[in-house]
Amino acid sequence: MDSEQLREHGHRMVDFIADYYKTIEDFPVLSQVQPGYLHKLLPDSAPDHPESLEQVLDDVKAKILPGVTHWQNPSFFAYYPSNSSVAGFLGEMLSAGLGIVGFSWITSPAATELEMIVLDWLAKLLNLPEQFMSKGNGGGVIQGSASEAVLVVLIAARDKVLRSIGKKSLEKLVVYSSDQTHSALQKACQIAGIHPENCRVLQADSSSNYALRPELLQEAVSQDLEAGLIPFFLCANVGTTSSAAVDPLAGLGKIAKSNEMWFHVDAAYAGSACICPEFRQYIDGVETADSFNMNAHKWFLTNFDCSLLWVKDQYALTEALSTNPEFLKNKASQANLVVDYKDWQIPLGRRFRSLKLWMVLRLYGSENLKSYIRNHIKLAKDFEQLVSQDPNFEIITPRIFSLVCFRLVPEENHEKKCNNRNRKLLDAVNSSGKLFISHTALSGKFVLRCAVGAPLTEEKHVKEAWKVIQEEASFLLSK
Ligand code: PLP
Repeated sequence: MDSEQLREHGHRMVDFIADYYKTIEDFPVLSQVQPGYLHKLLPDSAPDHPESLEQVLDDVKAKILPGVTHWQNPSFFAYYPSNSSVAGFLGEMLSAGLGIVGFSWITSPAATELEMIVLDWLAKLLNLPEQFMSKGNGGGVIQGSASEAVLVVLIAARDKVLRSIGKKSLEKLVVYSSDQTHSALQKACQIAGIHPENCRVLQADSSSNYALRPELLQEAVSQDLEAGLIPFFLCANVGTTSSAAVDPLAGLGKIAKSNEMWFHVDAAYAGSACICPEFRQYIDGVETADSFNMNAHKWFLTNFDCSLLWVKDQYALTEALSTNPEFLKNKASQANLVVDYKDWQIPLGRRFRSLKLWMVLRLYGSENLKSYIRNHIKLAKDFEQLVSQDPNFEIITPRIFSLVCFRLVPEENHEKKCNNRNRKLLDAVNSSGKLFISHTALSGKFVLRCAVGAPLTEEKHVKEAWKVIQEEASFLLSK
């Protein structure tokens, strides 16, 4: 890297990004381009000779930005948020600048050690049990995604049980979750070779905000044991993707423990809220878990990707995932003096991702992070109130965090017509470009989701979003 070129181009790029943020509200939140649009705008082959940064940035403006959905726009309310912040951005920049690949301790001791330290810091903020901290057998690691997190713990759990009962028993292993669990678990089961018929997808309780009832789990486990199968893995949720439902960890964990199952908690979105003492109750029972996951890249101001995974038994991970080729051998690793994170994940190479989380924790401080979360939850509460005051709409599930699930009410209980009408409303709202919300299905209902959580969102954006939704709804209802 030529440092003078970096200085010049780096400044130019920071200016470009700063200008983007200044004007971010001028773009349609959801990109309005048609599939294949970019092929028509870019040449068929890479240039033979260098072009200038200005030329490239001109193309970014004219050709790339129209095809961008603006996740950081304050009127982005779709899916769950994916926070970017100045602190997170600076950490990313530093990580890219240092350009290290930290798969083993020796490849950059600071990368491994900082990751251990910041994950301990965050475990403390979440008041996770001591066993998840790096002092004993446990510890935290940054994965690229919640999907990778659940995959690595599923593989660790699978191999742990197969080591004691023999590899031939793979087809007897059973995985449990509610039907509200993210499809990442299904993908992990496919990859880990779990027999599709042994994935118990238990119906969540629609009367309690779609949480999994422990009695239902107990029933399923007992039936499987009677059939000679081996229950081995339970995935519970704190903040499901559809409705932010919270499974009762203590009750579920007790069943998992008494049946020697690995208990994983997916708190990808809502985990962040649990740094606030008033929301910590939602992870009560986490002491019974073997692993816990939260995406700092969702609602914790840390730029994508930064998925935090804690385990109580790091050796279950390393037994399943470690390799020791000659070309990676070194004194520290051979003497077992260090953590080599390559053995806690699927790829070998890994970025210095802890820098951005460290930056976020230091440049905000935990009190500001708590206020940040509380503000979004308050804004979601405001939105919920606006919806509930309008007789044309209904709230579908009780709001806990910053997600509001709602819809236009059905006419004379005509559910199918109602679903179509809500689908039309979603399309109309999103093609306005003024905001972006997403949808889900709950008990056959087409449900609209408004997830407050973009860093720049203020009260006025929430009010404006509701105004647009109401206007589009009135137009639809008048037809
Ligand atoms: N779990 C939950 C509850 C989620 O909401 C999501 C994504 O939104 C995931 C898992 C998957 O996350 P990732 O994209 O990090 O794999």
